[in-house]
Amino acid sequence: MEIDTTFICAYCLQVNAIVVDGTGGLHQQYIEDCQVCCRPNDLHIVIDEELSEADVQAETA
Ligand SMILES: [Zn+2]
Repeated sequence: MEIDTTFICAYCLQVNAIVVDGTGGLHQQYIEDCQVCCRPNDLHIVIDEELSEADVQAETA
């Protein structure tokens, strides 16, 4: 299951589109570089399997 979602960069506040791989677990955490400013965001992702949605919170890493 792949979910298209977005996160707001914790540094420059630009919207980044990402694809979350649901097979990695319903709670995921990893570092993703911002596509605009290239700084590393610490992503905390919670996946809702029934809705096929992902809630993403980005923090400075
Ligand atoms: Zn950024």
